[in-house]
Amino acid sequence: MKKKWLIGNWKMHGNLAANKALIASIRAELPELDEGAEMVVCPAFPYLYQLAELTRGTGIGVGVQNVSDHLQGAYTGETSPLMVKELGGSFAIIGHSERRQYQGENDGLMGRKALAAIDAGLIPVICVGETAEERDTGRTHDVLARQLDAAFGYIRTAHDKIVLAYEPRWAIGTGIAATPEIIQAEHEFLRHRVAIRDKDFAARLPIIYGGSVKSANAVSIFSMPDVDGGLIGSAALNATEFVSIYRELL
Ligand code: 13P
Repeated sequence: MKKKWLIGNWKMHGNLAANKALIASIRAELPELDEGAEMVVCPAFPYLYQLAELTRGTGIGVGVQNVSDHLQGAYTGETSPLMVKELGGSFAIIGHSERRQYQGENDGLMGRKALAAIDAGLIPVICVGETAEERDTGRTHDVLARQLDAAFGYIRTAHDKIVLAYEPRWAIGTGIAATPEIIQAEHEFLRHRVAIRDKDFAARLPIIYGGSVKSANAVSIFSMPDVDGGLIGSAALNATEFVSIYRELL
């Protein structure tokens, strides 16, 4: 059985006390993870080490929401993926639409960040997704293909540890998830596009969905054949919701 993934993107939320309470509640509701599904939490940078400590020995993985495209150097304000690794992180979300939207990140930078993350031994969670306007004007596949090709222009499929996330921008934080049919269609499109480069890799590649996933809609989304899990925003800040969503993966 192919492994499932549940990744919580905490965005710019949390503090020392709230993070500790959230992990404690998740652990209380779910003392043991299932072998069939990974659970990962991605706090804001300052809390990486705290989360690495809190999750030690629990099986819960820790990641960050962004990394530098360089491993070291004169890059003021940036965080090297090597530093993330040293502090106990194993994952890095790359190219999230909020970074594209507010920080002006582009496809090329996303590809270089994914490569830097891999070089540091992290698993990149590469985000792709169209805006409402791009969907409405029939450009979804052009956009997804462009974003995907940019990332895979830098990384090689020989790097087996990659997660791909489909996050349509119009579904993020809106409370309105894409329909299971749309999600399946776009995941299938992405998998086919990756298969052009490497068929076996495409079959193994986890493709997860993000955008207003809640326990109430998780079942129908996760039942789609090309959906290998979820990238969860606001519902990841609620232990009961996050654990319920995790259970729907099994
Ligand atoms: P929401 O689940 O809050 O819509 O956020 C999704 C997301 O952006 C995860 O990266």
